[in-house]
Amino acid sequence: MNTSPIVYALIAASANVLGAVAVTSRARWSMRALDGMVALSAGFMIAVSLGELLPESIARGGRAAALAALAGYLLVHLTQHTFARHFHFGEETHEVTASVSASALVGLLLHTFFDGVAIASGFAVSPALGFLVFMAVVLHKLPEGLAISSLFLAAGAGRRAALGAATALGVATVAGVLLTEYLTGLQAIGLAISAGVTLYVAASNLVPQFQSKPGWRMPISFFAGCGLYFAARMVAGP
Ligand SMILES: [Zn+2]
Ligand SMILES: [Zn+2]
Repeated sequence: MNTSPIVYALIAASANVLGAVAVTSRARWSMRALDGMVALSAGFMIAVSLGELLPESIARGGRAAALAALAGYLLVHLTQHTFARHFHFGEETHEVTASVSASALVGLLLHTFFDGVAIASGFAVSPALGFLVFMAVVLHKLPEGLAISSLFLAAGAGRRAALGAATALGVATVAGVLLTEYLTGLQAIGLAISAGVTLYVAASNLVPQFQSKPGWRMPISFFAGCGLYFAARMVAGP
């Protein structure tokens, strides 16, 4: 069993918790920085999905892989439509009910599980791809942890429950890695599904958060995220 995907998943999982700590400790500067991170990670994730995950999975699985990617995209939409009806990245600033926060957590667990599947399937192809996928995951893990814990706080939950929700997301990611390591079938299709899941999270969850914001801070972060992918690709090697 390859231990490095698990180590990377643990780092990614702690970023979930770190994002929650930022919101529960009410650090204003970190909230602003995390805002820019939403755009940066969206750019990086779209680049990894279209530049790496999709072509790699099609090279391995042909046309069926493209359809598996489509299935991954639709699957996230389905879970978010049925469970996480009210979920958006960024800090939750208005009041919500406890059932809203609980169902958002359920909806997000599938996505974070596939964060782990993506890391493990990436490493199954090559350490370089595994590292790129890890970066795509870890970059959006801080905003992810922040979003879920602020949603819990907005629902009237205590700090402990808010941290617990972010921890659950991290645990789901580690579970995704472990399951992919054991189920070889998931490893084969995991890369393709992850392409669709990553594209959904980036283009349909993250981008709408800053699409209509005025000014150039967000678009610059977004394009910088794409640029960071090319830099990371050079560092990671073939
Ligand atoms: Zn809201
Ligand atoms: Zn995620």
